[in-house]
Amino acid sequence: MIDLYNYFNEILKEKEKLDQEKKELEKDPKVQEYIRIYKQYKQADKQYKQAYAALKKHEYDECNHILVYTKEEIGKREGRTYTHSGCIKCGLDDSALSIEKPTFEESVMADYIKSQKSWIINGKQLNITCPLPIACGIYESIKEANHNITDEEAITLFKLSLIDTYIEENKTKTEEKDFTK
Ligand SMILES: [Zn+2]
Repeated sequence: MIDLYNYFNEILKEKEKLDQEKKELEKDPKVQEYIRIYKQYKQADKQYKQAYAALKKHEYDECNHILVYTKEEIGKREGRTYTHSGCIKCGLDDSALSIEKPTFEESVMADYIKSQKSWIINGKQLNITCPLPIACGIYESIKEANHNITDEEAITLFKLSLIDTYIEENKTKTEEKDFTK
């Protein structure tokens, strides 16, 4: 059986020793400088997180989404297949809801989606499946070349670009296949 009193006393002694060492170190001006900077950093990080969440909420609220299907996923519990959708304009992606250990940025996205009754109401769902980073990249280059483009025009160009990308990819695949013969 573990001697709880001995165990407690050992831990307490170790804690007090470390506390003493910590206090000694805190007398060093370099360490004091570090503590000061660290506190400021924590404050700035907190402000960054608040500003990031506010900015993203604004972007998602204002966006008239153009959604593509991003990926299919099999639900762990029921074995059902879920199809995720993502916006090629603002990057909002409902697969953020199924990330097990989300980053801060991913959790902002997931929290936003959870706070909405239905985020698909505000926009248009295209019957296209495409990885979201590729879809967003194509949309961005369309916007760069045509600043005042309407959503409908952008959708037409987006579909044409996808066809081009698809043809290019298949051309490369055929060439690779011929090369290895
Ligand atoms: Zn959007």
